Amino acid sequence: MDYLPIFCQLQRKACLLVGGGEVAERKARLLLDAGACLTVNALQFNNQFHVWAELGQLTLVEGAFYADLLAEKWLVIAATDSAEVNALVYQSANQQRVFCNVVDDPKRASFIMPSIIDRSPIMVAVSSGGKAPVLARLLREKLEAILPQHLGKLANLAGSLRQRVKQQFASIGARRRFWEKLLAHDRLAQSLANEDTELATQQVEQLFAERQEEQGEVVLVGAGPGDAGLLTLKGLQQIQQADVVVYDRLVSDGIMALVRRDAERIFVGKRAGYHCVPQEQINQILLEQAQRGLRVVRLKGGDPFIFGRGGEELETLAEAGIPFSVVPGITAASGCSAYSGIPLTHRDHAQSVRLVTGHAKTDGELDWARLAAEHQTLVFYMGLNQAAVIQQQLITHGMAASMPIALIENGTSTRQRVIEGELAQLGTLAAQVTSPSLIVVGSVVSLRSKLNWFASRDIPPNLSKMA
Ligand code: SAH
Repeated sequence: MDYLPIFCQLQRKACLLVGGGEVAERKARLLLDAGACLTVNALQFNNQFHVWAELGQLTLVEGAFYADLLAEKWLVIAATDSAEVNALVYQSANQQRVFCNVVDDPKRASFIMPSIIDRSPIMVAVSSGGKAPVLARLLREKLEAILPQHLGKLANLAGSLRQRVKQQFASIGARRRFWEKLLAHDRLAQSLANEDTELATQQVEQLFAERQEEQGEVVLVGAGPGDAGLLTLKGLQQIQQADVVVYDRLVSDGIMALVRRDAERIFVGKRAGYHCVPQEQINQILLEQAQRGLRVVRLKGGDPFIFGRGGEELETLAEAGIPFSVVPGITAASGCSAYSGIPLTHRDHAQSVRLVTGHAKTDGELDWARLAAEHQTLVFYMGLNQAAVIQQQLITHGMAASMPIALIENGTSTRQRVIEGELAQLGTLAAQVTSPSLIVVGSVVSLRSKLNWFASRDIPPNLSKMA
C-alpha cells in the first residue's frame, strides 16, 4: 500500500493554499466545504477569491510565498503554475512536518487528493496513487452512477436511530435484522429521495413495531477444496452476512479472509497435537449460537454433504426447530480432478465415478468386488492411512496391478502436488504425501499427461511427475 487512505477532520483547522488561479479555486472550494480555516497566498487572485475574502470565508495574503506562512498550519496545498514555487512550498512543508499536496505532482506530495463521491456522511474516495488519474475518474463515474442520491439521507437516518435500536432490541441478531430491513427498504428509500419525511417516519415506526425474529439460523456452506476462487457467490454472500463462522482445518486462509471482519470465528478443527472438537460438541455449538439469535455459518471444506457430516449437524438443528439451509460447494474430487487434468469420466475410460471413504466405520462396509469392476473411476477421500488395504483389496478382487493411480495433495491450492503411479505402488506412494490428499484410481489418470494445465504453470511437467 503506497498511501494510507484517511478522512481528515478539518473543521476550523488552519490550512494554507498557495495559488490564486482556477485550479487553486477548485481546491479552495473543497477545503471550505470541509470547514477549514483557510489562508490563501498568491501573487494574484482571480475574482472568486476576492468574493470569498469579502464574505469573510478566507484570508488572502498577496505576494511571494514564504515559509512562515506554514506556521501553525495542519496542511497545505500548492496549486500555482510555477514548478519552482510548488517545489519550494513542498520543501518548506516537509521541513515543518506539515502535510503537503502539490497539485498534479504525486512525487511531491505527502498526501494526495482522491476522486470523491460525496453522499455525506457516506464518502467514497478513489485513488490510483497518481498512476492512472483517468482510470480513477472512470471508476468514480461508475460509482457515482450506482450509489443512489438518497444514500446520505439513509445514513443520517440510521445514525439518528442507533440509540433507540440498541434500547429496543436486546440481541445483536435482532439489531442486525432491523438494520438489514431498514437499509433494504425500497419504499423507505423512495420516501427519503422524495423528502417525504412524514411517510419515512411512518415506515420507520412500522419497522420498529415489527417483531424482529429472535431466533437465529444456521447456514451450512461448502467452501470448496482450497482455491478461494472456487467459493460460490451464494457462499460468499453468506460468509459476509454471518455473525458467527464455525470452521475447521480444511477451510483455506484465502476463504477465511473473505469472512465479515467483525464476525466471531470459532475453530473446531484439529490442531497439531490436539484432537478435533468432537462432533457432538460441534452440533452443540451450532445450536447454542443459533439460539442466541445469531446468524451462524457452518463453513466446511469441499461440499458439506460429501463426507462432511453436514447431515449429522443438520439433524440436531432440525430436532431443535432451528431454521437452516445449505449452500453446496465444490467437492475435493471435482476440484482436484480439474486442477490435475484428470477427468473423472471419459467416454473411452469410465462411465461412472464412485466417491469412496477410506475411513469406513467398520470392516466389511465396502463392497470391494464392485469397486474393482471395470470402466469406472474411484476417488478415495481420507484414504491415506488405508492406502495399502485399498491396493491389496482391489488387486485381490481382480483389478489390474498396473491400473493408473494418482495421489493429489492440497488440491487446487498453490501447494498442490500430484503423484502418479500404478495400483501396485499405492501403499508406498501414499507414504510420500500428507493430508489432505485424494486417491484417484482408474485409467482416466493416464489422460493427465495431455490435460494437465495447472501444475504446468508453476512446475515443468517432467518435474511435477517426479514430485
Ligand atoms: N466435504 C469435503 C470432504 C471432507 S473429508 C469435500 O467435499 O471435499 C476430508 C477429505 O477430503 C480429506 O481427507 C481428503 O481426502 C479430501 N480433501 C479435502 N480437500 C482436499 C484437497 N484440497 N486436496 C486433496 N484432498 C482433499
